[in-house]
Amino acid sequence: MQKASINDLNKENLYRKIVLIRVDFNVPFENGVITDDSRIKAAIPTLDYLIKHGARCVIASHLGRPKGKKDVSLSLAPIAKHLSKLINQDVLMCHDCIGNSIKETIQNRHDISLFLLENVRFYKEEETNNETFAKELASLADIFVQDAFGTAHRAHASTAGVSNYLPSYAGLLVKKELTFLQSVFDQPERPLLAIVGGAKVSTKIAVLDHLLENVDYLVIGGGMAFTFLKAQGFSIGKSLCEDDKTDLALHLLDKAISLNKSILLPLDLVVSQSITKTDTIRIVDAKQIPENTMGLDIGPETIKAIESLINISKTVLWNGPLGVFEIDAFAKGTCEVANRLATSPATTIIGGGDSVAAVHKVNQARNMSHISTGGGACLEYLEGKELPGIACLKEKETV
Ligand code: AMP
Repeated sequence: MQKASINDLNKENLYRKIVLIRVDFNVPFENGVITDDSRIKAAIPTLDYLIKHGARCVIASHLGRPKGKKDVSLSLAPIAKHLSKLINQDVLMCHDCIGNSIKETIQNRHDISLFLLENVRFYKEEETNNETFAKELASLADIFVQDAFGTAHRAHASTAGVSNYLPSYAGLLVKKELTFLQSVFDQPERPLLAIVGGAKVSTKIAVLDHLLENVDYLVIGGGMAFTFLKAQGFSIGKSLCEDDKTDLALHLLDKAISLNKSILLPLDLVVSQSITKTDTIRIVDAKQIPENTMGLDIGPETIKAIESLINISKTVLWNGPLGVFEIDAFAKGTCEVANRLATSPATTIIGGGDSVAAVHKVNQARNMSHISTGGGACLEYLEGKELPGIACLKEKETV
């Protein structure tokens, strides 16, 4: 079932209404200066849309980890100033996120369209999803809009609790996330390819298991591939391996056979004696990794095989790097795959975390169909889990 977004509300539903919007303004700071404002910029289309339709916006976010205590170094005040410049409108910074004086200000200041509440995590009740706190927050507005996908996997007061008291809709950012991520599971354009990498099988086994049922092809790369190679009886030298997960790996390979799905594991590898020793680098067959070496990137044959799969696929989901891409000597596999995806006519969905960093490393972010804004939330979605911050939104049919 599709979730309703602000686009599904008609003009009268927004005109003169007060809208509580949960955004992700958890931006990095250095010496009091915002070093990357992309999260603030990303919220602007939703804010613009709401203002254009006559609503006034009450913005809620967390910043850092104040652990339920007021911490002036984690105040959202500098963000109010920055947002005001970006959106070219006054933004009234509230000294708190709940309370009668805040409520009165919002109700009486009709000359202001944008109010920024103080850090919701100054209250411990935010993360415990306390009912009274959620009710207080909700009492500031007429409608709730969820536009923080990155925290949607948390059942907090400002991400889920408020929806018990207000009609709740997805903002434009969350709508985009859901459209692309749903396209992987809900009638994807086939063939559907998933490329999953990263360090450990343990953190991605549920993702692999869930994806296997939906994809046509699955590529397993990165550090996790060695648990699969070892499970099949190959020697993996000093490569990363989770010995207690070899049974799970075998189970997944058997499941692929029974579902008639094809899994591509590395065919060849870039190995070295250690991560810091680049003078011992060589390319070897993935089934014959020398005892004293470790696999740190996929080799050229594997890159070619992945590229062939990308060429025949209409939808590609990528989550996790295919080698130790932070070190240039082991970044080739990850970078080449990112470059190939950037030129592919397929719908390309980059699933958060380190694969996003890799796409930025090769400057190809603008050439992907969608880059997820939520690492943890994206992983939980791909595992098939229900995200509390999404589950609480209205269904499209009921609007
Ligand atoms: P994850 O957070 O699970 O997506 O893992 C990302 C990390 O996996 C990155 O820091 C990579 O350096 C690491 N990684 C990828 N391939 C390998 C490998 N072959 N050996 C060790 N670490 C790897």
